[in-house]
Amino acid sequence: MKTKAIIFNLGTIDRFTVDPRSVLSENGFDSFAEVTEFNELAVAALQKNNPEFKALFAEDTDYLCCASRPRAVRALLDFGGVNIRSKNITWLALDYDSAALKSAHGTPWFPVIDRDGCTGCGICHDYCLFSTYTRDDAREASQRVVVTNPLNCKTGCPACARLCKSGALIFPFSPDSSINGALEGGESRGASELLAAFEADPMKVLAERRKKRRLIDERKFSEAESDRKRYS
Ligand code: SF4
Ligand code: SF4
Repeated sequence: MKTKAIIFNLGTIDRFTVDPRSVLSENGFDSFAEVTEFNELAVAALQKNNPEFKALFAEDTDYLCCASRPRAVRALLDFGGVNIRSKNITWLALDYDSAALKSAHGTPWFPVIDRDGCTGCGICHDYCLFSTYTRDDAREASQRVVVTNPLNCKTGCPACARLCKSGALIFPFSPDSSINGALEGGESRGASELLAAFEADPMKVLAERRKKRRLIDERKFSEAESDRKRYS
């Protein structure tokens, strides 16, 4: 069976410091074979009906994929509705320019969920004041919380990711490797870290934030709506 190679770029701020084609050939991929380059993955993931995006893994073949942060790519694909669970994919992590991520916030900025790590605890949903997430307790745990309003997320804010005990939240353009998908297994956080982050009783803080969220000015949502139009 032939192998198909795909080089993923997350967005303009995602820059490799190695030549992806050299890495593919070092890993046994014929350098003369066809390679697909997919750019601006975060934008494509937002446009859920983008046919190019949906067609990425349509072939019944083996795949060799490379990206700066493969775990972020997998979560973005899942978010964009591309199911790769049944595919045979080898992932290669490419070195990337972390200084570029520190110098500017990459956009579109929004969280994606690593379904292999999410326990469905709902902390991210309860904490976010901007209704980025919705929660459906009837679903199985790993699918319970969904990023339904990605562009409600405030650019540069990674607050909820720091509260995710299992490190399942990924902000693909964060300079912080513990939340940008660079670490394969995610980074689990202990109860004391959570308490420190909340600086109070977590349950009380979450209840107060839920209340506050309901009072958030509708204007914020119309701003997010105009952002949404930019990417559609
Ligand atoms: S905080 Fe983490 S584990 Fe809990 S629902 Fe959100 S993503 Fe899943
Ligand atoms: S990072 Fe901040 S604004 Fe974005 S989803 Fe999390 S809590 Fe909400």
